[in-house]
Amino acid sequence: MMVKWLLVVVIISGIIYFFMRNKTIGSKKMDSFEGDNMYECKQCGTYVSEREVIAKGGYHYCSPECAKSKG
Ligand SMILES: [Zn+2]
Repeated sequence: MMVKWLLVVVIISGIIYFFMRNKTIGSKKMDSFEGDNMYECKQCGTYVSEREVIAKGGYHYCSPECAKSKG
């Protein structure tokens, strides 16, 4: 009789653990989708993410070196 209740407790905690884990994985996925805009460097054509891009004179550059050179 006690074994039966122990099994129920194990199954319930297993279900709770499964849902908690799913929740954290889901929220992590949502975060990675944000800020994924890519810009092409005007100088060398390299694609850089929104966070790393250098905007200068209405154009986008991948690095300070590309931003300095004219073209
Ligand atoms: Zn560049």
